[in-house]
Amino acid sequence: MAEPGSDLESALALIADVPDFPEPGILFKDITPLLADHAALRAVVGALAAVGRDDDGRPVVDKVLGMESRGFILGAPVALELGVGFVPVRKAGKLPRATYAVSYALEYGEATLEVHRDAVRPGDRVLVVDDVLATGGTARATMDLVEKCGAEVHAVAVLMELGFLPGRRAVGDDVALTTLLTV
Ligand code: AMP
Repeated sequence: MAEPGSDLESALALIADVPDFPEPGILFKDITPLLADHAALRAVVGALAAVGRDDDGRPVVDKVLGMESRGFILGAPVALELGVGFVPVRKAGKLPRATYAVSYALEYGEATLEVHRDAVRPGDRVLVVDDVLATGGTARATMDLVEKCGAEVHAVAVLMELGFLPGRRAVGDDVALTTLLTV
């Protein structure tokens, strides 16, 4: 939860609701006004990076993973702040070298996410970062990719959770989930 009057609270207030985008019935959460504001972006990146630290403020992860494409925008600066590398999780066919792949169900059809096989080492502790947790399919698939690499998910950190959807259940009870805002 953001402290009342904090930079983080002001940052979260910049997220814009766009009805019926990209299709009728979807309320799209547009984070671009937040990204365009330096203080807001700094507050959000700091809050997400805190999930990758212990109580003394020391980083406890080896890598930050971000999912295409807004997970790239937030995940890369979180990795820099923690002093670790960033690993992109991409849609099928985008990564040029050997990958692990996980497919998951969408409302209509299926999607596949991939990660480079050598990007995450066995035993690595990983922080997963994205903007919106909706059904949780994307987060779950990313967690499964981390497992395929022989690594461990330290936590999942997202800017916003759509609390009326089962994303939290998809992440499960075994992994810590931090969301800066629940709507
Ligand atoms: P899901 O796999 O259903 O949890 O969806 C998560 C992914 O879809 C995230 O990477 C989000 O960027 C995107 N997403 C899902 N629902 C929304 C929404 N209402 N507004 C903005 N992005 C969304």
